Amino acid sequence: MVAALTIDGLEVDFGGFKAVNGMSTVINRGELRVVLGPNGAGKTTLMDLISGKTASTAGEVRLFGREITNRPEHQIARAGVGRKFQIPSVFRDLTVRDNLSVAVSHEPRVFRNLRLGMAAADRARIEEVIELTGLEPVLDVVAGDLSHGQMQWLELGMLITQQAKVILLDEPTAGMTQAETSKTADIILRLKGSHTLLVVEHDMAFVRKIAERVTVMHMGKLLAEGPMAKIEQDPAVRDAYLGS
Ligand code: ADP
Repeated sequence: MVAALTIDGLEVDFGGFKAVNGMSTVINRGELRVVLGPNGAGKTTLMDLISGKTASTAGEVRLFGREITNRPEHQIARAGVGRKFQIPSVFRDLTVRDNLSVAVSHEPRVFRNLRLGMAAADRARIEEVIELTGLEPVLDVVAGDLSHGQMQWLELGMLITQQAKVILLDEPTAGMTQAETSKTADIILRLKGSHTLLVVEHDMAFVRKIAERVTVMHMGKLLAEGPMAKIEQDPAVRDAYLGS
């Protein structure tokens, strides 16, 4: 197994309060890992530390063995960590197709030229993403006019088009209808194996649908890790989180 993302003794000290306090885990290439934990456990902060939004005060983050700890956010993104936020960062005035083209080029200014001369491999990847996300009927719609679900799928599609090596998803189903949540689960399940994903999610029905191996955080630390079925039976996890 190849380690895609290695988190080793990671810590951040917010003026005496360690929101992430010696967290370690390894996510293998092709793995779909779900991070669980009660509110305030440090899940979002962990994502912030991995993506470079917040600087850590101790520990390391490695992407395919290469240290990326505390690099600037844009460098970490360039290195291959793609993060999807709850509020999408699509270009609202561009069509779905142009958003996907921009994601290939990384460079909004040149996307028009690139669309003409885009490499066949890039075009093929965009077509795959369109099929995966079901965005075909809205390709010529500007992103600002999409439904909430479509907007989220577009942003996820853009991360795939950009060939992010590790994709971080923070509550991907927040604000979604049941039908949208179900479609999101289908999309994420199809990515398993070919993509490496780290997903923070509270919706347990959704988690049960997608999760294999889960990581449970509590008070900034690793509380438990293992197959979902086993973790759900773990007394420490039930006490700290599942509340049953
Ligand atoms: P989770 O995502 O698991 O709900 P968070 O990572 O959002 O938890 O937050 C963990 C804890 O860290 C919370 O108690 C939160 O208030 C605190 N926290 C997060 N960011 C900061 C910050 N910039 N300064 C101080 N405390 C913070």
